[in-house]
Amino acid sequence: MSNSIPNIEAGSSPAAILTAGIQAAGGNVSLACSFSMEDVVIIDIAHTAGLTLGVFALDTGRLHEETYEVAEALVERYRLSINWYFPRHAEIEALERTKGLFSFRESLENRHECCRIRKVEPLSRALKGVNGWVTGMRREQSVTRSDLKSIELDELNGGILKINPLVDWSERQVLDYTNEHNLPKNRLYKQGFRSIGCAPCTRAIALSDQERDGRWWWENPENKECGLHKR
Ligand code: SF4
Repeated sequence: MSNSIPNIEAGSSPAAILTAGIQAAGGNVSLACSFSMEDVVIIDIAHTAGLTLGVFALDTGRLHEETYEVAEALVERYRLSINWYFPRHAEIEALERTKGLFSFRESLENRHECCRIRKVEPLSRALKGVNGWVTGMRREQSVTRSDLKSIELDELNGGILKINPLVDWSERQVLDYTNEHNLPKNRLYKQGFRSIGCAPCTRAIALSDQERDGRWWWENPENKECGLHKR
């Protein structure tokens, strides 16, 4: 289905962006949840505003134990029903048998291959049948996200809406909201992680670093996307 982007006034709240996006899509919208602080904030905002928002998650097979703990905490707190998607097992088996467990460190091509199998393909299945999806992306996170809009058309996924309610928020705002509402938070943040993805591709960083410097730290900043958010 193809949607049109609603008018969003500059400075609109995340709840207003989320509401407008869900309405414009005609409902049937889901959050792509990686259990980041941003995603938990969005779940709480939707819950507080009484919005109907589905939640799906991609289990790449390489997630941190601490990430699963957040998932369980959310299920308990919000009675959340999470639609988990896994990679196609035949592709993973072929990849690991031929290239081993850490091929993604060897080249950008290999890294994209792993992300495609573990993330991008499952995402394409998750997005089939929804009218829109929600992400926790913010402009401030990296050079690859600096021109992000609050609501975009996702042409690569059938022209559905892509809603980014926290587009204008800073890392500080996300942290403050999390603390003020006592939201479940991945324990890795306390250890210096500031953006959390797969375990072998994420590490702790300093406060002086860019937020996503701990992702694929062996690559250049302009490459630090996994293909989920191609535009
Ligand atoms: S983040 Fe790393 S382990 Fe996860 S899918 Fe991408 S390359 Fe593979």
